Amino acid sequence: MKIPILDLSVQHLQIADEIAAAVTRVLGSQKFILGPEVRELEQELAQYCSCAEAIGCASGSDALLLALMACDVGPGDEVITTPFSFFATVGSIVRLGAKAVFVDIDSATFNMDVSQVQSAMTKRTKAILPVHLFGQCAEMETINELARNANMRVIEDAAQAIGAEYRGRRAGSLGEIGCFSFYPSKNLGGAGDGGLLTTNDSELAETLRILRTHGAKQKYYHERLGINSRLDSLQAAILRVKFRYLDQWADARRANAKRYRELFRDAGLGSSDYVQLPVESDGSVHVYNQFVIRARDRDRLKAWLAERGVGTEIYYPVPLHLQACFKDLGYKNGDFPESERAALEALAIPVYPELSANAQTYVVETISSFYRAA
Ligand SMILES: *Cc1c(COP(=O)(O)O)cnc(C)c1O
Repeated sequence: MKIPILDLSVQHLQIADEIAAAVTRVLGSQKFILGPEVRELEQELAQYCSCAEAIGCASGSDALLLALMACDVGPGDEVITTPFSFFATVGSIVRLGAKAVFVDIDSATFNMDVSQVQSAMTKRTKAILPVHLFGQCAEMETINELARNANMRVIEDAAQAIGAEYRGRRAGSLGEIGCFSFYPSKNLGGAGDGGLLTTNDSELAETLRILRTHGAKQKYYHERLGINSRLDSLQAAILRVKFRYLDQWADARRANAKRYRELFRDAGLGSSDYVQLPVESDGSVHVYNQFVIRARDRDRLKAWLAERGVGTEIYYPVPLHLQACFKDLGYKNGDFPESERAALEALAIPVYPELSANAQTYVVETISSFYRAA
């Protein structure tokens, strides 16, 4: 059996005709930058995320950058986030000349350990940037409360969490600005790079629209120092097709997650010393962009699975406080033990919507055989 970590080709075959029609429509219009397709997508996704406004941009990384720019984050400012995320979460902060201040993650959810946020706050803290890692929302109630009392902004890195819910509310509507990515491997993935910002604050929305087009509201009159970060019409048209399937695909991911739990339990591995399964917090709807287990002897298990045709991925092998490019932040090994342990134990196994029950059985059997052989 050959089971990749993600197989987008099966999904594409189901919607290939609709995608082709959407692409043809845009080519016929010869409108490629922003335009009506982007506006339609923005409206559909604003509504989906229960936000007043959505603003398309060129990538999830740019969404983070634009969100911080709109909050006037710059030199001398601090932004609190976690070191167990994709690079862009912290890259966006540091690129603006601000300082990334880390707090460790919660061992159960891999999300920000909110009990550590207060002690990381200083007079210079401008914003808190929680990540909804792997498709589950961070503990937003505590984060919002801390931020409100200290007059700080909350920006959600919701790149992996479109459709995820926290106490009945959707990711992207929980802080001041939500940042989404349409990178092909995300739950709503385009045919290239793309991103989106959501907000309920019309003033912030206006600022974000200006910032994504070189800081100009009226062409060639630049009020602010912006960037070029627009969503392509072609991407928007393709994303609008895929958006119609988003909930159905998220349901399939959740069903796969549930089946894994049963299979691991039946194999006697569910909550063993060998394997720990992802934890769903109370009041949260997980969208399983990734199904990440903790595994004993992770690297050898990964190799064992690869030899037997099962693709896995390590998100993330090096916590951000230990990345070479962030060494000026002055952190060292041992500073964030939970993030460092997660980097050694975490292993994403296939969970994509089209994954068959047989394939899942094979994945769990292969993991089981590794520990029996050990
Ligand atoms: C994918 C991702 C990003 C960046 O999105 P791009 O569209 O690839 O730039 C940011 N943060 C997290 C947590 C992500 O998973």
